Amino acid sequence: MPHSHPSWAAVLKDGGLKKLYSDRVQGLNRKLGCFLSFGIEDIDIDASENTPLGGIPIAVKDNIAVKDRPLTCGSRILENLTAPYTATAVSRLQESGAVVVGKTNMDEFGMGSSNEHSALGTTVNPWNTDRVAGGSSGGSAAAVAAGLVPLALGSDTGGSVRQPANFCGVYGLKPTYGSVSRYGLTAYASSLEVIGAMARDIDLLESAFRIMACSDERDQSSLEYNPVPDGHRRVVMLDVPDGELDSTVARDYTRSAEALIDAGYTVEKITLSSLDLVVPAYYTIATAEASANLARFNGIRYGSAPDFAENPVELMRRARHEGFGDEVKLRILLGTYVLRSGFQDQYYGRAQKVRTLIRREMARVFDDSDLLLMPVFPTQAFLRGDQGMDDYTQRLADVFTSLANLTGLPALSVPIGVENGLPTGVQFLAPVFGESRLFGVARRLAEKFSVPTAPGALDIGSLS
Ligand code: GLN
Repeated sequence: MPHSHPSWAAVLKDGGLKKLYSDRVQGLNRKLGCFLSFGIEDIDIDASENTPLGGIPIAVKDNIAVKDRPLTCGSRILENLTAPYTATAVSRLQESGAVVVGKTNMDEFGMGSSNEHSALGTTVNPWNTDRVAGGSSGGSAAAVAAGLVPLALGSDTGGSVRQPANFCGVYGLKPTYGSVSRYGLTAYASSLEVIGAMARDIDLLESAFRIMACSDERDQSSLEYNPVPDGHRRVVMLDVPDGELDSTVARDYTRSAEALIDAGYTVEKITLSSLDLVVPAYYTIATAEASANLARFNGIRYGSAPDFAENPVELMRRARHEGFGDEVKLRILLGTYVLRSGFQDQYYGRAQKVRTLIRREMARVFDDSDLLLMPVFPTQAFLRGDQGMDDYTQRLADVFTSLANLTGLPALSVPIGVENGLPTGVQFLAPVFGESRLFGVARRLAEKFSVPTAPGALDIGSLS
């Protein structure tokens, strides 16, 4: 579906406007900390004007490779790494006329829900700088909400596109597992994750997804995209017990269901008997995979090494000790523990069986419904620092998002409103390849709840 953004193309085409845009972005970025690196590449804007994306600037999370740009993953250990090639998802967007302008901040290796676990910078929420932007793709979400770019890429292993999108009041898509190539995405938990995108414009988000979706010989788990049609109106809504959501989140959750009924959908409440198992299964599988995936960052194959070490083992030990932050170390230890011989059946093996159980329950849900409505996170964007949410509570709060990762299902977080000066939203899950249902329902809701604009956001129309 072609989509044109003449105003963005004009900005990048006119040298003066391009500089003004760059200055404004960098000015706002000093306050928000979205980008870890910034630089608008020179491209033939005239030629790209006739492309589907028409020369729009995009931001890319710093765990997704863009040739000749940094690829830090928010970690000290990769602070000096430059990507030798470009991720398939990014090169497909570039071929369709997108212009990469920078790499965005993230929780180290994608582990976190706040961006406070980045070793390289702090991203704050554009709605209120005392609040977190969410995580782990918080830099991308804040960049879109602040109007610095119309589209940004993130990765979603347990909610890292949808939760920051929700905290910043933009759309966040986690595609069907395998529909977007992971080639060029630095692996955290390979069986759970997928590259996703965020935008304030649902048409643009859909165009970007359709451009990115493809099977790729460089990612063995990627799939030929085979869409299931939209046109269905049966929604089931997760019944969340009183008190499990903040009152503002609960209110807008109910309001979204009412709006769906007004728009001609049927909405029926359901419970999921395997929901309590989601977080334990997610953290067992995610940490197990992380402990294996992060083994390559040892100061020899990848990663900075200390100037001096007595022997290779000492070198690896020190590179990892100095290069990884505490959250990453904790998860590597946990992952190693659940995979230890003698414990593997009890933890990792059991988590895989639980995952199958959850998958089966979700398959039954979609036997006679088209979409599942759920909260994204139990609270709005929480405070930064010690006043915020503790790490343990943050992990428990991944329950609503990591369900889609355990099952491979596509999910979209949708902004609904602004309560107490902060965005609220909901998410929809659909069957495998059901993205068009997600875009369809988002469009219907947008007729009632327009996407909110963060205070002080850059308005591209005002550049002159
Ligand atoms: N909060 C989740 C975690 O820390 C988010 C992971 C993600 O999607 N990258 O594991």
